[in-house]
Amino acid sequence: MKVCFKCGLEKPMGDFYAHPSMGDGHLGKCKECTKRDVRKHREENDSVREYDRRRYHADPARKARSRAVADKWAKENPHKRKAQGALAYAVRRGRVQRTSCEKCGKTKVQGHHEDYSRPLDVMWLCVRCHHRHHAGYK
Ligand SMILES: [Zn+2]
Ligand SMILES: [Zn+2]
Ligand SMILES: [Zn+2]
Repeated sequence: MKVCFKCGLEKPMGDFYAHPSMGDGHLGKCKECTKRDVRKHREENDSVREYDRRRYHADPARKARSRAVADKWAKENPHKRKAQGALAYAVRRGRVQRTSCEKCGKTKVQGHHEDYSRPLDVMWLCVRCHHRHHAGYK
């Protein structure tokens, strides 16, 4: 006989799973407790997985967050937003010509404003040069 450390009941050895690394060659908890633990564990895992999956697939908060970031930027930088809007409009109308990057000649460029009060006065820079420019490289 052996006492299960989980339920505290004394049960015959046959009610314990064999386990070579245990002192008496058997698990410290009875088969019933072991099964219950396994089941509980699986249920917990399942619910965690299910939760993750649902959160990942239908995350309105994530969409709202990125929208919020854009909205916040627009609110905090109305002059930049206006300048970019005016520039995009001028480019569409052909009033401003997009050129290649002024630093390296790449053709995929962004308009960089030195002065947002002059929205059409832009420097055309590729993403990399644009970042470098803002980082202080000349
Ligand atoms: Zn037990
Ligand atoms: Zn460049
Ligand atoms: Zn810029």
